[in-house]
Amino acid sequence: MNVNEIEALLVPYLRKIKASGKKLYGILAHGLIPEELIYAAGGFPLRLILAGDKNPSTKGIEYLTSATCSFARATIGHFELKNELYSELDAIIGGNYCNGELCAIELISEYFNIPKLSIVFPSTKNEFALKFMVAELDHFKQDLERFGGIQISDEQLQNAIERYDTERDLIQEIVKIQSERGPFLSGSESLDLMYRHFLYGVDSSIEHLKQVIKELPNKQSLSKGKKILFAGNGVAFGDNIIQLIERQGLIVTKNLTWTGLDYYNSLVGRNGTPLTALARYYINAENSGRMVLSTDYFKNLTRIYEENDLDGVIFYIIKHCSIIPSLISMNLKAHLKSKEIPYLELERDYSLTSEAQLLTRIQAFKEMIE
Ligand code: SF4
Repeated sequence: MNVNEIEALLVPYLRKIKASGKKLYGILAHGLIPEELIYAAGGFPLRLILAGDKNPSTKGIEYLTSATCSFARATIGHFELKNELYSELDAIIGGNYCNGELCAIELISEYFNIPKLSIVFPSTKNEFALKFMVAELDHFKQDLERFGGIQISDEQLQNAIERYDTERDLIQEIVKIQSERGPFLSGSESLDLMYRHFLYGVDSSIEHLKQVIKELPNKQSLSKGKKILFAGNGVAFGDNIIQLIERQGLIVTKNLTWTGLDYYNSLVGRNGTPLTALARYYINAENSGRMVLSTDYFKNLTRIYEENDLDGVIFYIIKHCSIIPSLISMNLKAHLKSKEIPYLELERDYSLTSEAQLLTRIQAFKEMIE
C-alpha cells in the first residue's frame, strides 16, 4: 500500500473517530510517548509514521537544513504538502528524544498552527530518573486533562494500560510462534502489523493480531534464507529497506527497532500506581536507543542474536540522526566483532540514497554470510 492509498482509507476512518468526540493527537516520538495516557483521556494517538518517501523529505528542506535527519524533514514535508491525514490533528505531542523531533515538533506547531504538548525523558535509568519520569508523566497527564477538558482517573489509566498490555501479549505470542515454529511472517509482514497499530490504533490492532494468530498455523514456514537481526532506526511508512533486504533472499526475523514486534517484549502490568508502572516501563524501553551507548542494549542485542540462532546483524541509520551516531560508533562494532557476529551498517537519506547503493551493500553482506 502506498501513501495515497493509506490516505484514502485512513482519512474517513479518522474523521469517524473525531465525529465520535475523540481528539486526535499526532505523535512523533519513536515508541516512547505513553499512548496509554492518551487512550485513558479518550483521545486517539496517531503515529506520524508517513515519512519514508523522497518527495516530502525533499520538501522538508524548506524548514530544516539538509543536515537534519530525513525522517524529521519528511514529517514536516507531509504537512507542507497538505497530506489530508495530518490535517485532522487536534494537537501534536513531542519529546526531547532527539534533535529531529525537537525541531520538527516546534516548527509544525508554529507554522501549521497546531497546539503542542511536550514531554521530557530522562536519559538514565536510576532511581532519581524514575522519580523524574513519574513527575513528567504527571505533567503530561495534566496537560491532556487541560487540553481535553477532562479528568483521567487511576481506574481509567489502569484500564488503558491493560488494553495496551493485551496488545503486547498478542505481539509476544506471535514472536514466540515465529521463534519456535516459524518464521511464518517475513520482516515486511511483521512491519505491516506495527503499521496497523500506528495508524489504526490499539483496538483495531488487537482484533487484527488475534486474526493473524489464528491464521499463522496455516501459513508455510519461510525455511529458506539467512536470518537477520535488524536494529538501529525504525522504518517509516514508505521506506522499503526491509523489502530490499528480503528481496536479496535474507529474512528479517528479528526487528529490535520501535517499528518491530520485538520492541514490545515486556508489559506495564501493575507495579505501584499506574503512573509509576508506566514510568518504569518507558524508562526501560531499552531498544528505543534513547540510552545512548548503554551496555544493556549491546547485551540484549547479543542475547537475542544468540538465542535465535541468527546469521547476521543489519544496523540501520537514517542519515544525520542525532541519536544513532554515538550509539553505533566503535562500541557496537567492537562488541559484535569480539563475538564474531557479522555486521552491516546501512545508512539512508530518504531523498538522496539510491536503492542501487543499498542493494550492492546488502548483496555483498549476503555473500559474506553464506
Ligand atoms: S531519525 Fe533520529 S534524529 Fe530523526 S527523528 Fe528519528 S531519532 Fe530523531
